[in-house]
Amino acid sequence: MEYIEKSAAQIAHDVRTRVRSAAEVTDATLAHVESVEGAVGAYLTVLADSARAHAARVDERVRNGEKLALAGVPVAVKDNMCLDGSRTTCGSKILERWIAPYTATAVARMLEAGAVPIGKANCDEFAMGSSCENSALGVTRNPYDLTRVPGGSSGGSAAAVAAYEAALGMGSDTGGSIREPGAFCNLVGFKPTYGRISRYGLIAFASSLDQIGPLARTVEDAALAYDAMAGFDPMDATTVDRPVEAAAGALREDLRGLRVGMVREFDSAALGAALDALYRAAYRDLERLGAELVEVSLPTAAYGVATYYLIAPAECSSNLARFDGVRYGLRVEGDDVRSMYDRTRAAGFGPEVKRRILIGTHALSSGYYDAYYVRAQKARTLIAGDFERAFAQCDLIACPAASCPAFEFGAKSDPYSMYLMDYYTIPMALAGLPALSVPCGWTTPEGGRVPMPVGLQLCAPLFAEKLLLGAARAYEAATGHALARRPELESVRA
Ligand code: GLN
Repeated sequence: MEYIEKSAAQIAHDVRTRVRSAAEVTDATLAHVESVEGAVGAYLTVLADSARAHAARVDERVRNGEKLALAGVPVAVKDNMCLDGSRTTCGSKILERWIAPYTATAVARMLEAGAVPIGKANCDEFAMGSSCENSALGVTRNPYDLTRVPGGSSGGSAAAVAAYEAALGMGSDTGGSIREPGAFCNLVGFKPTYGRISRYGLIAFASSLDQIGPLARTVEDAALAYDAMAGFDPMDATTVDRPVEAAAGALREDLRGLRVGMVREFDSAALGAALDALYRAAYRDLERLGAELVEVSLPTAAYGVATYYLIAPAECSSNLARFDGVRYGLRVEGDDVRSMYDRTRAAGFGPEVKRRILIGTHALSSGYYDAYYVRAQKARTLIAGDFERAFAQCDLIACPAASCPAFEFGAKSDPYSMYLMDYYTIPMALAGLPALSVPCGWTTPEGGRVPMPVGLQLCAPLFAEKLLLGAARAYEAATGHALARRPELESVRA
């Protein structure tokens, strides 16, 4: 095992105790990135020089006696988060050459804790997608099978962590964009409660849903990143001013005394025999760990996708109005200001982004507003109410993270089949709940070459992150599915 395959917790420990320097870890990571990036394509920008500069500062801080929770930990930053002086593209041509003039709060907190940013990771354009295929700027491949997608929209961060090009990834989840790529890449993908981590400096897609969170190879690493990032930020009025319960030190050994809800409407039999068997085994493992399984019902969750695809595009149509050729990024000149707007947006946005802007503008237009947008808001309230009733009967909910393992490029060519990828993750996002995906086994997809990872989703009540991570850790420790296979990177090293 190469050193860079160690967990973030181990790397931070070694750098803190000066067994290794952050400079050494950074150099080793950058060398590995160089050898595998041609095949994986996780990053849009590799920040070699600034990573080395950050590492030198971390080593200095360690020498000064600072106890940094993420000392020297290489991190992949999704390219919809600002990092002062670095290109921040959102995977879009409209921002292809835009340099961020400040650093997002979540990124700043990771750096403050000692993390070293290795690069800006690829993503679906403006985080709209479930496979990274909507990026206008690059292709990211799944390190476990390079013919398959890494998931999305935080696919670059997920691929980077899976391929050991970083020990931690930063992602954003609007409807599933951390949890689904986490599941596809054999990682823990964790979306905290809406408002728990600042969105300041996260380029907005759908502001009432967007939430930053970590992608990690272990639950403990996800908890460390969460502890570093979480908390009130005066720069984001939607962050919640309420103390954060540190999660990393509260990881559980078992699930005794916990009731875990099985969602009646999410019967895994619908996913085919192989996935059904994996999920049934996972639920039995939860029981073996001491949990009591109880049936709960989320009768309106089936409307999640329809609801989300009105609310998210409506918010995106408003948020993306700012990309007009005047203030940020691309500008294509025209005969007058109107034609300049039109040409800039026609050239700068890709087809999925345009589709969302059109859907959202329509849903918000007078005459349709009540029929679409207002009804979707009402449906959102009903979905949140379902979860509230379910959590009166259980402490956590367990269900699939995605309806299939990572698929081949081009396999979901119509938008609707891609939208359905988030069937199991969207309801939690609409309800603002913390949820994560944790590896629960392997299956070889039909026509596939190698087994691909599968994720179990666990969801907790609002602000119960500590319980959620603690339980996930108990499940991970008892099952060890993530350790069963490694990505086949040796074959791609030049
Ligand atoms: N796949 C969903 C979408 O395309 C969710 C994306 C996300 O969570 N950012 O909108």
